[in-house]
Amino acid sequence: MIPENINIIVNNLAGSAQNGRTPPQLIAVTKGQADTAIDAALGAGQRIFGENRVQEAISHWARRRTVYDDIKLHLIGPLQTNKVRDAVALFDVIQTVDRISLIDALSAEMARQNRHLPCFIQVNIGSEAQKHGVLPENTRELLLYAREKGLKVVGLMCIPPVDTDSGPYFAKLREIAAENGLPELSMGMSADYMAAAAHGATYIRVGSGIFGARTQ
Ligand SMILES: *Cc1c(COP(=O)(O)O)cnc(C)c1O
Repeated sequence: MIPENINIIVNNLAGSAQNGRTPPQLIAVTKGQADTAIDAALGAGQRIFGENRVQEAISHWARRRTVYDDIKLHLIGPLQTNKVRDAVALFDVIQTVDRISLIDALSAEMARQNRHLPCFIQVNIGSEAQKHGVLPENTRELLLYAREKGLKVVGLMCIPPVDTDSGPYFAKLREIAAENGLPELSMGMSADYMAAAAHGATYIRVGSGIFGARTQ
């Protein structure tokens, strides 16, 4: 099941890429998944993974990373400053940079560990109360601050409002990225990854569409 699901998604993405454009890369989101499911994805050749929580990511990946040297691990969940040390040590990409205090902590820790990870700024693209991410209108200011602090910001990430058409939100994220010269766009999940691909996503993040419902 899991290898087939990965294949279907990768083929769909390849089919969606027009004019020789590179299709988005698939991030397999393993939060809440069993060890057998993770190993099935690895067995199918999947190498890019996403996790939401630092602690769970360590339990899923600390050992596996010593077995496979080509895994790329993306943090896609909110990051508290007291978890920054572990996050910088484990992950390859931090997708959820969204505030000054986190930039300060990441900047100091990356220097300390000499691990200068590529980062995404998470944008609260629907300007929703209670949602993580910087507001669209404040994205540029935060980006400039992150650069000033030496962070290697490569793109933007978003989670659009639920139960609405994601398309306009993806278009908006792409526009903000273009205005700021940022090449990478992490957007689209199980339900809307094809829309994200159509709007220029360079990474999509799929969990249940590969693994089924989360078990933990
Ligand atoms: C859980 C999660 C995903 C994957 O969601 P699915 O609907 O299971 O594909 C993608 N992105 C983020 C930020 C998530 O938290």
